[in-house]
Amino acid sequence: MKVGFIGLGIMGKPMCKNVLKAGYEVIAFDFNKAAIEEVVACGAKAASSGKEVGENCEVLITMLPNSPHVKAALFNEGGAAEGLKAGCTVIDMSSINPVESQNIAKKLAEYGIELLDAPVSGGEPKAIDGTISVMVGGKKETFDKYYDLMMSMAGSVVRVGDVGAGNTTKLANQIIVALNIAALSEAFVLCEKAGVDPQLVFDAIKGGLAGSTVMNAKAPMMISRNFEPGFRIELHIKDLQNALDTSHAINVSLPLTSQVMEIMQALKVDGKEKKDHSAILNYYEKINNLIVGNKN
Ligand code: NAD
Repeated sequence: MKVGFIGLGIMGKPMCKNVLKAGYEVIAFDFNKAAIEEVVACGAKAASSGKEVGENCEVLITMLPNSPHVKAALFNEGGAAEGLKAGCTVIDMSSINPVESQNIAKKLAEYGIELLDAPVSGGEPKAIDGTISVMVGGKKETFDKYYDLMMSMAGSVVRVGDVGAGNTTKLANQIIVALNIAALSEAFVLCEKAGVDPQLVFDAIKGGLAGSTVMNAKAPMMISRNFEPGFRIELHIKDLQNALDTSHAINVSLPLTSQVMEIMQALKVDGKEKKDHSAILNYYEKINNLIVGNKN
């Protein structure tokens, strides 16, 4: 099976390497030439445009920041849709607005091309290990056809409904992750001020009911004060904006999501939008005038 790959960033590059490791033939494109060279060293072919990728694959994986990037990669001049043949499938693994997934599916259908919206959760470490969770929207038979391909990058791949359902599930995931990180930050400033070591707090509670994958991933980063991404605040702002837009469009209220959104917005105002979302802690440190964890 010939696989196209567009978008070799923090997530896409290790995901592409795992597809190669599983034995698929891959042709890849990104604006970043160094990223292309890295996957070429693992056995991929380099393309000089999205169109060239489309001409040389039956299934195209996209892993791009947001819907404008996905639309540009597919439909701009020299984009993949110019090269893809009718009967091909696009698996968009980017996290985008579910309504945009449906719009993209409609446009691809004009070319006779199927879409699966298949965003992922797990972050860079799980992308490297090949253990990300994939939530997929689209036709059951298309899902079945490409299940093994998606599993080559993942620990779990679950079909959650028709096109758009994958990204609705991802919004749910992003709400839960954001609120967890904010809760962890509140707890850590409280413990720090009370004179209880956050590392010992983490050790004591991680196996209890409050423990979570988010806590295991983000507490060590907060305590060692490593706020390098990982998952950038600007990307999480994009996800929460998509969650709020979607909720308002269907008349649902998300009070806690809107509050964490404003915390992230304040961090962006403070120039921290390229930091990992664990830097939500920095907002709590600022309003409480203290520093959590290792001060060295
Ligand atoms: P990133 O910014 O690191 O990578 C995006 C890549 O896309 C870059 O290499 C960029 O050059 C390339 N690109 C942009 N437009 C392009 C175009 N038109 N043609 C070709 N290449 C193009 O982003 P990331 O962290 O890898 O995230 C990708 C998606 O995955 C986002 O939607 C994000 O929300 C989601 N996601 C990220 C994480 C994470 O922890 N980083 C976790 C889960 C999901």
